[in-house]
Amino acid sequence: MTQYAEIIKKIKNADAILIGASNGLSITEGLHLFADDQAFQTVFGDLKSKYGLRNILDGYFYRWRTMEEKWGFLSRLIEHYSGSYTPTPVMENLRKIVGEKPYFVVTSNGEGHFEQAGFDADKVYEVEGNWIEMRCSNRCHEAIYPSMEAIHKMAEAEENGIVPSERIPRCPKCGAVMELYNAEPPKKEIINAWNDFLNEFHEKNIVILELGIGWRNQLIKAPLMNLTAREPHAAYITINLGEIYITDNIKEKSYGLDGYLDVILSELAAEYENSEK
Ligand SMILES: [Zn+2]
Repeated sequence: MTQYAEIIKKIKNADAILIGASNGLSITEGLHLFADDQAFQTVFGDLKSKYGLRNILDGYFYRWRTMEEKWGFLSRLIEHYSGSYTPTPVMENLRKIVGEKPYFVVTSNGEGHFEQAGFDADKVYEVEGNWIEMRCSNRCHEAIYPSMEAIHKMAEAEENGIVPSERIPRCPKCGAVMELYNAEPPKKEIINAWNDFLNEFHEKNIVILELGIGWRNQLIKAPLMNLTAREPHAAYITINLGEIYITDNIKEKSYGLDGYLDVILSELAAEYENSEK
């Protein structure tokens, strides 16, 4: 049996699939947070020279002098990468592989692509928050609101990196400016859902599918490898370009696939379809 056939067999026999994803997946989908590449030039060329921004992350954490400039940058960013998003083949292949199995996603990506690609928001734990939701910057209450409509309205009116003040989203209770949702403190519902998932599939056949997470990542990769070690029937599949790392204690339960995420997922999806025949 080929390695792919073996992996697909594991997936088909799984009771649940746990997906871990980090910025390798975002990059595959065209969102590169820390590259001064052609895409950054195309979308942010004017702001790059105006403010000296070197990449998206730079703009994300820039000390903007005004809210109008801050939201000018953010609304253009989010409208481009999430407002105009259509699910990529990478996401479609991933959904194909997951099929009808119970699943859970743990990701440090915050662009909301899992939800937009049809994964259930209640099963996507964004450990660093996301930009498709927002809340009161004054924290007068803890409710979290969808941000995309406000983003779209600002992006529409944005000129030279500045949005009109009246389009900046404000807290419905205290009137403070809203801020994008960061994960501190995490939402109770998602932590509960995550714990429920771990309890429900404890000692079951769980396939852990790790997508584009750097080998030293402590936030997601290390916990997933620990989980693999603890769970007697777990299988661990890690896909990354040039950075396959699997600890010795889980070697027998693991598969390391070194290569481009989009290529490997499409090959796995093809194998999955073949095995149906
Ligand atoms: Zn408020």
